[in-house]
Amino acid sequence: MKAKFVILTILFFWNNYSIFAQADSSDRLFKQYDKYRATSITHRRFKLKDIQPLILSMRDVPGTTVEEVGHSVENRPIYMVKMGTGKTPVLLWSQMHGNEPTATMALMDIFNFFRKDDEFNDLRDKILSQLTLYFIPMLNPDGAERFIRRNALDIDLNRDARRLASPEAKLLKAMRERTHAQFGFNLHDQEKYYTAGHHPNPASITFLAPAFNPAEDMNAVRADAAKLIVQLKNMLQKYIPNSVGKWNDDFEPRAFGELMTQWGTSTVLVESGGYSQDPERQFVRKLNFVLLLTAFEAIADKTYVKQPIDEYFKIPLNKKMLDDLIIRHLKIKEKGHSYILDLSFKQREIQYAHASQYYTRGYIEDRGDLITYFGYSELDASGMSMTLGKILPKKYRNLKQFLKKNNPMDVLKNGFTAIRLRRYNPSQIPLDFPLMVLGKKTKYSNGFRRNQNPSFFLQDENKQYAVVNGALIRLK
Ligand SMILES: [Zn+2]
Repeated sequence: MKAKFVILTILFFWNNYSIFAQADSSDRLFKQYDKYRATSITHRRFKLKDIQPLILSMRDVPGTTVEEVGHSVENRPIYMVKMGTGKTPVLLWSQMHGNEPTATMALMDIFNFFRKDDEFNDLRDKILSQLTLYFIPMLNPDGAERFIRRNALDIDLNRDARRLASPEAKLLKAMRERTHAQFGFNLHDQEKYYTAGHHPNPASITFLAPAFNPAEDMNAVRADAAKLIVQLKNMLQKYIPNSVGKWNDDFEPRAFGELMTQWGTSTVLVESGGYSQDPERQFVRKLNFVLLLTAFEAIADKTYVKQPIDEYFKIPLNKKMLDDLIIRHLKIKEKGHSYILDLSFKQREIQYAHASQYYTRGYIEDRGDLITYFGYSELDASGMSMTLGKILPKKYRNLKQFLKKNNPMDVLKNGFTAIRLRRYNPSQIPLDFPLMVLGKKTKYSNGFRRNQNPSFFLQDENKQYAVVNGALIRLK
């Protein structure tokens, strides 16, 4: 019996040896990331002019070329950075949707990585001798300027891969033809409200190996992308368990992922998603850095080839199950009776100053039984009593004047959830300010219907909370 057990144990470990022995560089990259972070980029609303110096400075790196390969509708330059001399061409493009910048930040970090001379030299040499990397950071600089999805023609570039009406889409197709890319990385962002399957964690990274035909068949080109995704998914589980999702495989005949695969490039779609306490996606940026460099290593070492493709189809599908805040079992009086309801809140970003800054407005997304949904933060209000917040009667000239006379948390504790300023300038209000700030005459209805933005207090003997502008604040 014992001997049999030992043999089975050995067989078990032997079979799983490849899982344990995948000595990739991901752990070291994750630990040393800060050394390579492009520190001038700290938030999502950067523009082409902010990354242009970082791109152009790559001209000084031996073996690297930087080429202006085209222009956007509004004549902003689009660059391609080329490095490496290997026989496997890899093409990466980021931010074809102007408000999806996470991977662009990571590409700046990766440029820094290849600029350095340190203990990763072996990895660099391996990647650059096996692969030729072609990076197109920020394919849609006009959209990035406004922090919107579409380009300056109001076209979705990811629905222009077939017709090629826009200069940006034409350029991307031309670069595929020029590079004969064997692998492609189509780098996007998704809303922070997606989960990987029915799970409370956000889908921080979502993958897809896009179908090349409506039947969603598997061929060698698509299979290589799917196997690489399996390897990357297993690697990422160490850092973000239950937070790696997969898009559905539906064939979209106008999208670049699908047509790139059809044209012969094994294309990996990467969607950067939400992560708790990471509104500017700086942690997800780091995950992009690790996953892309690990992908280059996997292509160089051909370790992706051995991955079981059926695991690709087992990655949980993306679902939109998350909200910013859920208050459960709230007792609300409406139409003369009391009802127990769950409320979910989301926060909308409203941008200003030429899309370089934003403030948020909360709103009720849904109400009723929300047992199937999850919140980035949640509160069970069973047995708690609710009081509506009030607007502070005294109006102040501006926030500075208000802060001279008041501590915002004390104002909140006295039952006021909003203040009025005669000169309201959103740029003065910190994003985590605990009170609603209203203009002199801004209308504000403290209601609990969908799309309204109520502020109120919840309390029992031990605890007291405020809900203000879609955020939960603990008072006691
Ligand atoms: Zn996108």
